[in-house]
Amino acid sequence: MATIEHWIGGRFTAGNGQRTGDVYDPAQGTVRAHVGLASAADVDDAVSAAETAFETWSQTSVTQRSRVMFAFRDLVQRYEDDLARIISAEHGKVLDDARGEVVRGREVVEFVCGLPQLLKGEFSDQVSAGVDSWSFRQPLGVVAGITPFNFPIMVPMWMHPVAIACGNTFVLKPSERDPSVSNRVAELYAEAGLPEGVFNVVHGDKEAVDAVLDHPRIAAVSFVGSTPIARYVHDRASATGKRVQALGGAKNHAVVMPDADIDFAGDQLVAAGYGSAGQRCMAISAVIAVGSVADPLIDRLRARTEQIVVGPGGQSGSEMGPVITAAALKRIETYIAEGESSGAKLVLDGRGLSVDGHDDGFFVGPTLIDGVTTDMSVYTDEIFGPVLVVLRVDTLDEAIAVVNANPYGNGTAVFTSSGEVARTFQRRVTVGMIGINVPIPVPMAFHSFGGWKDSLFGDHHIHGPEGIRFYTRAKVVTSRWPHVSEDSLAQLNFPTAQ
Ligand code: NAD
Repeated sequence: MATIEHWIGGRFTAGNGQRTGDVYDPAQGTVRAHVGLASAADVDDAVSAAETAFETWSQTSVTQRSRVMFAFRDLVQRYEDDLARIISAEHGKVLDDARGEVVRGREVVEFVCGLPQLLKGEFSDQVSAGVDSWSFRQPLGVVAGITPFNFPIMVPMWMHPVAIACGNTFVLKPSERDPSVSNRVAELYAEAGLPEGVFNVVHGDKEAVDAVLDHPRIAAVSFVGSTPIARYVHDRASATGKRVQALGGAKNHAVVMPDADIDFAGDQLVAAGYGSAGQRCMAISAVIAVGSVADPLIDRLRARTEQIVVGPGGQSGSEMGPVITAAALKRIETYIAEGESSGAKLVLDGRGLSVDGHDDGFFVGPTLIDGVTTDMSVYTDEIFGPVLVVLRVDTLDEAIAVVNANPYGNGTAVFTSSGEVARTFQRRVTVGMIGINVPIPVPMAFHSFGGWKDSLFGDHHIHGPEGIRFYTRAKVVTSRWPHVSEDSLAQLNFPTAQ
């Protein structure tokens, strides 16, 4: 059985090679490969390769750097189907969904193809007599990304194209559950002309993560994953003086008002709740039905959900694949059981689903739970599976209070035909990304992505303008070119504009 290796300094390596992990085919429930788990020494090798590469890459012109990104972008498009297949085989998501994440990742590369424009500084003429002033931004050095299993190509692409285009060099520690696509990305960068050592991949678990967080020659860490690990990464990497952005988990609410188009809202919520088997940080996992909308909405949700075709991600016709691991399957089924025993009503119960020819696959069917209250574990916890819970309230004010009392603040949506309701909602919710009749409001690459509260630690959102700022630091130059004959005008008091 193959062992997936690290990519350090432009070549594959087993590194220290002492520990490996299992990579599964979630649709079959069988191990399909092993992955090397990096030691601190392996991480150090990657940082050294990146540090050497930084010396020349940071001096490469912005024009040349953006040309590499143009070439990389074309390769990501050319190999879109291959990349989607690699993702689907290890993650389990259906092929069209995997293609979608390749496209959304590629859009970040397209954003940084405009790098010369994005990195333009600001110039002020004649800030004092004969004096000009300007600002510009420079890369930080070696930066690292630590990423989750659920978007194995898109989430790393929120980070490395921006960091690399800005002149940094990069060490990626992807999820050990679906590591292969990161190695293919490394090959495509090499084919695009990126010099060796600029992009490195170290596979691994906590040992590799801790080595990244503590490494004295890593300047910044971007993390995306669950909230407890995001908090840990933020605290530990900050303690060693790094710049950190750590994006965490979510419980995303959709508020449905009585004036909404119920069929439209219902269909959108089914797609947003069960797409990728609910394993999206922007998945809708809690629906708040306001007033009279609840019963007809539940009818619509049930009718559409019953039609979802669950099957292997690589099989044509499948709309929803398995979840990532046997442990995830067990966790999700336990939550469903807790929902039932705490008095909620199981409208659709996905437990015990079997898929023909895939008896050991990690499948759980779409589950719809009505009558949920804010004290039940199906509401308080991020389940990260195909479970949609419905809470009933009487007014918009009550709905907003529920959204704002939740510790997470990643995404939320409102379904309404009233501009006034939409405006009230968008101004009052304590959430970073808001959809108006849009259930999964993931910002495009030229805006920044980020939640509030326990969904993000650190003060920068990711990609877009905030990504450029995160991966660079500012310089301001004040300059004067005096005539040789000019009086120096030097005085001992603090200089002010003349
Ligand atoms: P995870 O937190 O288990 O893992 C994320 C990364 O942290 C992986 O690379 C993993 O190897 C590493 N890691 C795991 N345990 C660790 C530990 N104890 N110490 C150090 N490192 C550790 O997350 P996951 O299960 O891979 O992904 C799902 C989670 O990610 C969900 O909570 C989801 O909401 C979140 N997510 C958030 C966003 C966002 O933008 N906010 C996007 C995608 C996923």
